[in-house]
Amino acid sequence: MITTIENASLQHYNTFGIKCTCRTLITYDSLADLEELHAQGVFKTRWLHLGAGANTLFDCDHFDGVILHSECTGFARSNAGAKVEVTAENGWKWDDLVAKMLSEKCYGAENLSGIPASLGGAVVQNIGAYGMEISRLLQSVDVFDTRTGESRTIPCGECGFAYRTSMFKHLGSPLIVASARFSLSGPESWQPALEYASLRDIAHPTPEKLRAAVLSQRGAKLPDPSVIGNAGSFFVNPVVTLSQASHLSDEYPGMPQYPAPNGVKLAAAWLIEHAGLKGYRMGDAAVDDKNALVLVNLGHATGAGILALATHVANTVARKFGVTLKPEVNVIR
Ligand code: NAP
Repeated sequence: MITTIENASLQHYNTFGIKCTCRTLITYDSLADLEELHAQGVFKTRWLHLGAGANTLFDCDHFDGVILHSECTGFARSNAGAKVEVTAENGWKWDDLVAKMLSEKCYGAENLSGIPASLGGAVVQNIGAYGMEISRLLQSVDVFDTRTGESRTIPCGECGFAYRTSMFKHLGSPLIVASARFSLSGPESWQPALEYASLRDIAHPTPEKLRAAVLSQRGAKLPDPSVIGNAGSFFVNPVVTLSQASHLSDEYPGMPQYPAPNGVKLAAAWLIEHAGLKGYRMGDAAVDDKNALVLVNLGHATGAGILALATHVANTVARKFGVTLKPEVNVIR
């Protein structure tokens, strides 16, 4: 079913809780509805597909276009040798889907527990945490092409997945992620992913224990968006060259550094904290006082206010460490 609201508020459609309206908000609960919307010409106007709005910052009071929101939650599971295949539709709340996978004995996504996202947004963003990335679990992605009104399947290797990004993340992408096919482990083939130090001490790890540990660690370190508006990590962890990393560790011996495919990954939270900005406040926009990578809306911040704070943070880090921080969050104007 398709539901349409004109001049709708988006305050509850972005986890920052920024006050913003849109020309038309369209909610659908069946993937076939996308074809109907295409036939109605919806994709000929300015449009944006929002999942949980957990990685989006509205830098405007009014979005003069159509916002699409999915409530499609189809789920199918089948055995494939030692692996288990799961197909899920884009409207799943990501953490509900992880819980459902575990209850169906489909394992692999437990390290990604608790990330606020829809399944569609999780794929677009290639969410990652605690040593796991969603793209490592995916087999293929079904997309709806808004230019042609047709659907097709894209194998995981052709989705342009990289650190916290994919080919779908570019603003203006004509493709809507409709559903995703996972290749997961069953009880016999599951291996815990324990490379992150904070997970290593779990005795006799099970998927359920890992999920509980990740949820508890996230809960202790991250502000709950339903209480304090935020979009998780605001910046991507920067990757620098080997020689820059070596200069930085000479100057700052305690600086965490991790090997990355094309250099050395630094922890953005550490850089922001050691630039003296943890808890820093500009009006109602603030750097969280528990996790410096998270920018928060303390009540009445605007998108412009959050962005002004982000610019101040990036400039201060660049001046102190010579490292560029880039936003992970999509800014919509
Ligand atoms: P942490 O342990 O304080 O470490 C800070 C950063 O160092 C993390 O962001 C992580 O990068 C990196 N790191 C730590 N151990 C690593 C290892 N063994 N190998 C490679 N990189 C390592 O991290 P935290 O703040 O508690 O976060 C824990 C996890 O939750 C991280 O994976 C983080 O990305 C994720 N998280 C995600 C969001 C979000 O909104 N997307 C928000 C908060 C935390 P990576 O980010 O590359 O993993």
